[in-house]
Amino acid sequence: MSFSTASAYTLPSSSSTPSSPNKAPAMLALKDAFAEVNDLTAWRHCLGVERLNGIPAIANELANHTIVVCLDCEHWSTNSDETTEIGIGTFSTQSMFPLVQGDNLGDHGENLMKRIKFYLLRTIETSHLPKTNPNSRGVEGNRFGQGRFVTFSEARNILHNVFAQPITDVNSLKGYNHPIVVLGHDISHDKDNLKEKDVAFDIDALGTVVRYIDTQVLARDVKFWLKPKEKIGLANLVKSLWFEHSDSHTAANDVGRTVISAVQLALHRHTCKRNCNKTMLEVATKIEDHSRLNFASIGGSTLYCWKCGSHNHMHINCRATGLHCNECWSKGRYQEARTHITLHCMHLAWEKATARRQRHDQARAAYALARQPPRSLPRYAAPPGPQAYYPNSFPAGYTHNPAPPLAPGMLTRPHFPSPGGFPSGRGYGRGNVPPGPGAGGYGVARNGGGVGYANAQLSTPRGGGYMGGSDSRGGWGGG
Ligand SMILES: [Zn+2]
Ligand SMILES: [Zn+2]
Repeated sequence: MSFSTASAYTLPSSSSTPSSPNKAPAMLALKDAFAEVNDLTAWRHCLGVERLNGIPAIANELANHTIVVCLDCEHWSTNSDETTEIGIGTFSTQSMFPLVQGDNLGDHGENLMKRIKFYLLRTIETSHLPKTNPNSRGVEGNRFGQGRFVTFSEARNILHNVFAQPITDVNSLKGYNHPIVVLGHDISHDKDNLKEKDVAFDIDALGTVVRYIDTQVLARDVKFWLKPKEKIGLANLVKSLWFEHSDSHTAANDVGRTVISAVQLALHRHTCKRNCNKTMLEVATKIEDHSRLNFASIGGSTLYCWKCGSHNHMHINCRATGLHCNECWSKGRYQEARTHITLHCMHLAWEKATARRQRHDQARAAYALARQPPRSLPRYAAPPGPQAYYPNSFPAGYTHNPAPPLAPGMLTRPHFPSPGGFPSGRGYGRGNVPPGPGAGGYGVARNGGGVGYANAQLSTPRGGGYMGGSDSRGGWGGG
């Protein structure tokens, strides 16, 4: 695979984006062919082990040049708005063909998996945010490829290069980009995170993606996971496939384990999984080692100091003096203001995290209030008064609070056309109207449309079930 590895990053201009070939009939036909099959069939095509059926002639050649991109994003656990890492694992279907045709997959598909390249992008703007899980080594525990520091904008540019790769070595496909299949574990989250958070990369915008594949769905397609309401977690999947998810929640490790799991699911009945010399764990460890030793950067710097912002050393080796943080200085933390630059101010990060937490708490409280069922509202306790009418269908032993007395000057209680049993309303029944369609006090709900006796205490009187309806059509005793 060839990437542009220019050291200076600029966002691609729209004119440099070859968008028209991606809308060409061959690309659209291939996308349609992928849409016809389940994740397992699509994935086996990508691995080169079983060609997709029904590819129209126009997309025949293009289908052989698919590139898989496996993705995972990580965020600061204290504030998940802050993207900290992007993991990428990628291979081309072309690179798998010689191995498959020569029946040289290796134990558990080891040779296939050695063709996958891994990258870990560490975002500079959030590089100072500390890991908060004491059981995790964070990025220090990365086992797939190597970490490189990039700004959000550089990350976006690298992703652009990954998703828009022109086909250069096939005459009939000149001008086309490689069709991309995106793989992930719960991939819709990563897709949304990339688009909506600071990296601001829209995977679909280039028009090269012909299919999404999710290991949670693959596990079902293979009948490896059958629980109908629960999706399999990555750690559980990895464990069930007999290898280990050590140093999890580091983007490239999650990508590595996702793609290895996907390969194992696709090969679960293949001869390469039988009579092996190596265990699955030994093979998985070899893939990790191979990916680090054969790493070739696609951009970013090896070193970065999140105290002074230098690309020549890491923070533990920082000797910089005379640093200045505007944020700390403005808050009177003069000593501390000299220890880091504003970009890497932890006080600012905590403030943002607190503000986000408060916003979410408020939103959660408002949501909970809106969803509160009527019966949890304070009950209207009516003073003693005349008995209400009870239809025979009322349960034995049921008692209720009698209707309140009429307000001074009132000759009769007003009644209002009502949808009946409105969740927030509590109609108070009174028994001087016989139950019948659309009328009545206490009685059996009649799917709304009733004339309810209004509770005189409600500012917007509504006929309603005294017991609180479970929906807007009235509960038990709708008016
Ligand atoms: Zn430094
Ligand atoms: Zn500061």
